[in-house]
Amino acid sequence: MPAESLYPRIEIPNVDIWSLLFENKDRPYPDDKVIYKDAETGRSYTYSQVKSAAIDFGKGLKSVWEWKKGDVMGLFTPNSIDTPVVTWGTHWAGGIISPANPGYTVDELAFQLKDAGASGVITQKAFLPVAVQAAQRIGIPEERIILIGDDRDESARFKHFTSVKNLAGTNRYRRTRIDPQNDLAFLSYSSGTTGHPKGVMLTHSNIVSNMLQLRAGEGGNLTWNGGKYGQGDQILGFLPFFHIYGLNCLVHQCMFSGWTLTVMSKFDIERFCANIERYRITFAYVVPPVVLLLGKHPVVEKYDLSSLRMMNSGAAPLTRELVDSVYQRIKVPIKQGYGLSETSPTTHTQPWQSWHTSVGSVGSMLPNQTAKYMSPEEKEVAVGETGELWIKGPNIFKGYHNNPEGTRNALTPDGFFKTGDVGYQDKDGNFFITDRVKELIKYKGFQVPPAELEGLLLSHEAINDVAVIGIYDKDQATELPRAYIAVKAGVERNEKTAQEIQAWLQSKVANHKRLRGGVRFVDEIPKSASGKILRRVLKVKAAEE
Ligand code: AMP
Repeated sequence: MPAESLYPRIEIPNVDIWSLLFENKDRPYPDDKVIYKDAETGRSYTYSQVKSAAIDFGKGLKSVWEWKKGDVMGLFTPNSIDTPVVTWGTHWAGGIISPANPGYTVDELAFQLKDAGASGVITQKAFLPVAVQAAQRIGIPEERIILIGDDRDESARFKHFTSVKNLAGTNRYRRTRIDPQNDLAFLSYSSGTTGHPKGVMLTHSNIVSNMLQLRAGEGGNLTWNGGKYGQGDQILGFLPFFHIYGLNCLVHQCMFSGWTLTVMSKFDIERFCANIERYRITFAYVVPPVVLLLGKHPVVEKYDLSSLRMMNSGAAPLTRELVDSVYQRIKVPIKQGYGLSETSPTTHTQPWQSWHTSVGSVGSMLPNQTAKYMSPEEKEVAVGETGELWIKGPNIFKGYHNNPEGTRNALTPDGFFKTGDVGYQDKDGNFFITDRVKELIKYKGFQVPPAELEGLLLSHEAINDVAVIGIYDKDQATELPRAYIAVKAGVERNEKTAQEIQAWLQSKVANHKRLRGGVRFVDEIPKSASGKILRRVLKVKAAEE
C-alpha cells in the first residue's frame, strides 16, 4: 500500500502563476511591501513595482517581438532583483522561461537554448560574450538578447529590459490566457536518473501547487510583518534563481507570502554573515557546504547572527554532525528539505517545531502527495522498508521536453515519478535518504551529469574508455566528480597525463563540473554484460582507496 501524506489535504486552485501572485484577493500584505532588495546596492522592488514592470515588459515582448504563447525565453544570469520581473513579464505574454547556469560555456548554453527552442535570451552585460556566441550559433538574432541588472550597454547594441515596452502605446495588448494544467511556465534542465540534461516541463499548476504545499509545510511560521524587529521575516537569497530550489522557494515563495528577499548575486561566507547582521535576516535557505562553513569558518565569529530564527538546507544530504556543529556555535536550528527539479521542487520538509526530533531526516511528505517504496526489481516494498522513492502529486512535472523515452522511463502510467533516490520513512512519516540509484553527481548542490563528462572525455585523444563517479568529501560536505580512465596504448599513466586531461576538460565545462575528485587510471572500466558502466564497483574501489 502506498503511503499518503500525513498533512490534511489542501485546496489547490486551478490558476496560473500570474493569477495566484497578482490577482489574489486574499493577498495578505499591502502593495508597497518591499519584496526584493539588492544586498549590495539597496535597489528594491515593492509588490506593485514588480507587477507594473512585469506588465510593461510583457507588453513590450508582444509589441516589439510579436511574442507568441509558448515561445521560450532563455535566462542566463546570476541572481538579480530584475529576474522576477522579466520572468513574470514573459509569463504575462504567454512565454516559458528556461533558466541556465551563468557559469556555462558557449557549448553548454547553446545546447540548452537549442534544445529548449529558445527564441530570445535575457542576460547581464558581463555575460554577453558567452550569450552572444551561443545565440549566434543557434540562430537567435542579436536584437533578441536583452539585458537586466545595473550595467547598461553604452553602445546601445543590446537593449535593457526597461526599454522593451509597448512602443505603439495602444491598449490592444492583453495578458495571454493560460491553461494552468497544460501550459508550461518553466523548462528547467536536469539529467534525471541517467544521461544528458533534459528539459523538465513544469506547468503553471506544478509551481502553484508547490507554493501552496510548501506554505502548508512551513505552517505559517514566517510572517510578512511584525516579529522581533517589526519588519516581518527577512529572507537571504543567495541560492541561484536558475535552479528550481532558489526559483520556487525564494523568488515565488517570497512574492506569494510577502517576505522581503535580500538578494545576493553570488555566495561568499563573509558577505553572507555581514548581510545577516546588516539586514537582520531571520531565515535562509542553504545547502550543506554552507552549513559546514557556518560550523567552522573563523569569519562567522565576527558577525552578529542572532536575528536568524531558522535555516533550511536542501539539494544534497545533510548530516547530523553538521546540524549540531552550527547549533552549538550560533544556536540556530537547521531543518532539512528534499526535492527535485521534476517535483517543482519541494516534496518533503522537516516541520519547524519538531526539527530536533528527526535530525538527519528530510522531514515528512508535504500535502496532496503519495509515496511508494520500490525494490530494484520495481516491486513495492512495505512502508517502513528501504526502497527507491516513487512519488505522485500535483507538483510532479509533465515530462521531459521532446523526449518521450526519457519521460516513459521516469513517469509511470498512473502518475508516479521515479526519483532515483533510495530511503525509508519511519513510523512518524519522516523520510530518510540512504542512497541514490541514479547516475547523478551533485557538487555543492549543482548537478554534474556523469554521461555528459564521459561523452566529452571520450573525445580526448589519450582516452580509450572512461567512467565518472562522485566521491564524498567530508571536509567540503559535498561530492566531487572523479574520472576513472583507461588510456590508449602508449599513453603514460602518470600525474602529468592526469593533469593534462583535467585542464583540457576544464576549458570545456562550467566550473562546478571540473574533475575535483581527480583522475584515476584503470586497465578497464567495469561493465555489465549489456555494456552498462558498473558504477557501484567503482564506488567500492573509491571507498577502498
Ligand atoms: P535537482 O533536480 O538538481 O534539484 O536534484 C535533485 C536531487 O538532489 C535529488 O534527487 C537528490 O538526489 C538530491 N537531493 C536533494 N535534496 C536532498 C537532500 N535533502 N538530501 C539528499 N539528497 C538530496
